[in-house]
Amino acid sequence: MPTYPGRIPSKLPHVGTTIFTVMSRLAAEHKAINLSQGFPDFECAAELRALVTKYFNAGVNQYPPMAGIPALREAVAEKIETLYGARYDVEDEITIVPGATYAIYTAVATLIRPGDEVILFEPAYDSYAPAVEVHGGKPVYVQMRYPDYSIDWPAVETAITPKTRAIILNTPNNPTATVLSAEDLRMLEGILKKTNIVVISDEVYEHIVFDGHQHQSVTRFPGLAERSFFISSFGKTYSVTGWKMGYVAAPRELMAEFRKVHQFNAFVTNGPLQYVFAEYMKNKDAYLQLAAFYQQKRDFFLDGVKASRFKPLPSRGTFFQNLSYEAISDEKDTDLALRLTREHGIAAIPVSVFYRKPPAHRVLRFCFAKSEETLAKGAEILSRL
Ligand code: PMP
Ligand code: GLN
Repeated sequence: MPTYPGRIPSKLPHVGTTIFTVMSRLAAEHKAINLSQGFPDFECAAELRALVTKYFNAGVNQYPPMAGIPALREAVAEKIETLYGARYDVEDEITIVPGATYAIYTAVATLIRPGDEVILFEPAYDSYAPAVEVHGGKPVYVQMRYPDYSIDWPAVETAITPKTRAIILNTPNNPTATVLSAEDLRMLEGILKKTNIVVISDEVYEHIVFDGHQHQSVTRFPGLAERSFFISSFGKTYSVTGWKMGYVAAPRELMAEFRKVHQFNAFVTNGPLQYVFAEYMKNKDAYLQLAAFYQQKRDFFLDGVKASRFKPLPSRGTFFQNLSYEAISDEKDTDLALRLTREHGIAAIPVSVFYRKPPAHRVLRFCFAKSEETLAKGAEILSRL
C-alpha cells in the first residue's frame, strides 16, 4: 500500500492499544495463565448454544427493528421491573444494542458537545474518557479514595460546573471491584436534584454482587432513573462476551435522542441473537445464580493465594480480585505485570492504567471468571512469589 500523503490530526492523540489487548496478547505469546482481560474461559450454557442453532435456522436473518425485537424489549422491561421496581415503556424506553461499550459511546455521542464536561471516577474503565474526548468533551475526574475506593460525594458536588452535562457511574465497579451502597446513590440523587445532569450508568456487572449485598441500580431511585441511561450487557450475564450485545433503558426524552444517533451508527443489533435471548431470559436462574457462581470462584481464588505475600483488597462485585503486592516488590504495577507474564507465566492488569497520572498504589487486577483449574494454577504461581 502506498503511504497516505496527507496528515490526519488524531482525535485521540494520547490513546494507544487497550491494556486488555496488550496483556492478552502477551499472555498468549508467553503461554501464561491469563487472568488479565475480563472474560470467562469456560463455555456458556449448552441451552443457549442450542437456541443459537434454532434461531439461525428460523428465517430471522434479516434486519430486526431498530430498537430491538419487541419480545426481547418486553423481557428486559419485565426483568428491570421485577428486580428494581422501575417500569420502562417497551416501545419508547428500551433499546437493544451491540454491547455496553457501544451503549456508553452512543449515550456520550447523544449528549456531549465540544466543551461539555463529564464527571468520571478514577480509576475509570478505559472506554469512558476516549468516548468523551472524541466528541470534544472534557473528562473531569473525581478520585475514589484508596484503598477502599469509596466516593467522596462532596468532591463530586465541587466538580460540578455549569458545563457539566453528564456523569458516568459504574457499579459494581471495574477495576476496583467495589459496589455502591443505597446511601451512595441517595447522595448522588440529592446532588443532581437541582441540575440537568444526565447519568450514564454502566451496570454490566449488575448480577455479580457478593456476600448477600444487593445491587443498587440507578433505576431503583426515581430521582436518578428520571435522568439516567441504564446500561447492561448480555456478554457478562450469560458468559458470551464475544457476542457483543446489551441493552439500554432510559426515559423516553433521553431514549428518543439516543435512538437518533443509534440508527445512523449500528442501526440495528444482531437479529437472530435477540430471539435467542428473548427465549433464554425466561430462565431467571441463569442470572439469579450468577452471584453465587462467581462468589465461589472468588473464594476459591482467595483460598489459593491466602498463603502468598499478596494482600487481597475487598472484592464485593464483578469478576475481579485486586491484590496488593506491597510486601513483594517496589516495581511499578505496569512493570510487574509484564514481568509476571514473561518470567512467571501469569498475566494480570496493572490498575494504574485506569488513571491519567498513575498513583503509587501497588495493585494488580486478576480476573476470576476462569475454570478452577486455571485459577488453581494461577494461585500456585502467585504463592511462589
Ligand atoms: N463496562 C465495563 C465496566 C466493563 O467491564 C465492560 C466489559 N468488560 C464493558 C463495559 C463492556 O461490555 P460489552 O462487552 O458489552 O461492550
Ligand atoms: N472489560 C473487560 C476487562 O475489564 C475487557 C473488555 C475489553 O477487552 N475491552 O477486562
